Amino acid sequence: MKIAICASEVVPFAKTGGLADVAGALPLALEREKQDVIIIMPRYKAVDSSKFKLKELNDGTSWTTLGDNIKVYFIENDKYFNREGLYQDKNADHKDNLERFAYYSRAALQLLKQINFKADIIHCHDWQAALIPVYLKNIYFDDPFFESVRTVLTIHNIGYQGVFPKDDFPKLGLDWSLFNIEGLEFYGQVNILKGGIEFSDLINTVSPTYAKEIQDKEFAFGLEGLLNKRRDSIFGILNGLDYDIWDPGKDKFIAHKYSIDTLDQKVKDKADLQSICRLPVNKALPLFGIVSRLAGQKGFDILAEGIDEICKMKIQMVVLGTGELVYHDIFKEMAAKYPNVISLNLKFDDSLAHKIYAGSDLFLMPSRYEPCGLGQLISLRYGSIPLVFKTGGLADTVNSANGFVFDNYNELDLVKTVKKAVAAFKNKASWLAQVARAMKCDFSWKASAQKYLDLYAKAKKR
Ligand code: ADP
Repeated sequence: MKIAICASEVVPFAKTGGLADVAGALPLALEREKQDVIIIMPRYKAVDSSKFKLKELNDGTSWTTLGDNIKVYFIENDKYFNREGLYQDKNADHKDNLERFAYYSRAALQLLKQINFKADIIHCHDWQAALIPVYLKNIYFDDPFFESVRTVLTIHNIGYQGVFPKDDFPKLGLDWSLFNIEGLEFYGQVNILKGGIEFSDLINTVSPTYAKEIQDKEFAFGLEGLLNKRRDSIFGILNGLDYDIWDPGKDKFIAHKYSIDTLDQKVKDKADLQSICRLPVNKALPLFGIVSRLAGQKGFDILAEGIDEICKMKIQMVVLGTGELVYHDIFKEMAAKYPNVISLNLKFDDSLAHKIYAGSDLFLMPSRYEPCGLGQLISLRYGSIPLVFKTGGLADTVNSANGFVFDNYNELDLVKTVKKAVAAFKNKASWLAQVARAMKCDFSWKASAQKYLDLYAKAKKR
């Protein structure tokens, strides 16, 4: 099958979150299944042309390869992409995001024609690529080149829909007739993701539970009506994890590689982490890791309420993340109050992230909602026991055998579960058995790639 993956961020070229991990790993897994895959993404300032050996295709496009022979095409436009930040700078969204990703989406379709890639499937990710199905069905509907193409839209997080003022609508180059409830209109504004859901052939989210949840008012951020209308076209496929990148046995960022049979090495990584993070080096204290965007979605509201009580337990905590300033401030206050308990790292740091997964005993991920979540999958692989709220992909991957799960989203249940985990950590034999169960879980991309191929086959029948 010929598959074009369209995503606004792709590992290793540009990343702000889990979308990039998926958009980088799925094509590799599809290539291993002998599929003909290309990737199309914007050429941001941060995409280093010499590091990635970029070559020029034409005036507005460069390319390189990933895996054995996956061509990755970069849509270039200095005005739109040659600046700091993928979507925002200094915590403020770029004001022209609608224009930027409308340009990207149009250019991606033009590119397919230029390179004569007659895709069976264009697999679009999130709102940034959601205009592609809109353009296909409304502008290119009679173009023979696209006659047999089908679109799949993956929603990685329905909390991000690309909503813009009505006045921006003409910049999309679409007829005003599409600015209605059956199109991109959403409470008087333009909603790009809504357009994508309306016009793509099939839709999926990144876990079976989240696929059900988003049809509920509580999780749908206003799109429950449309999602209900399209419920026969909505599927859930759990993300895989790229075990080439996330493997404690060969992780280049950690000093002591380890496996289930050499967990003594993990204890050394813990000591390294404690000293890097200026915490007392002490293997007896359960060390909690957090690697996350600091956002309400990630459960920091209830954690903020419970953190004082948690810090009074005999634990340590390394926090790595950036995000909403309110959580920066809360953690700053707590880190100042409990300097021997919390190490706060308000930044994006891939190397430190790897060290945290390897060096911590537990991984805290109390997300209020979580489409799939990669943090818990990584932590399972590294034998850092996840502690999660039962929602979305967390509910599909963590259970009492490999982690700790709480069912009521509130501070009391969170603190109670942290206490339970701290008590469990003291029993070495049962703890090590739990670590072994966690590390044995298999969330590799192979199974997920197969499910995507089945989904593509379904889309072809539409
Ligand atoms: P989301 O995509 O909602 O942010 P996921 O759990 O799906 O959350 O994916 C987050 C990914 O980003 C993980 O690979 C995680 O390790 C990484 N990550 C998040 N914050 C940071 C950070 N501050 N530094 C390094 N890596 C981070």
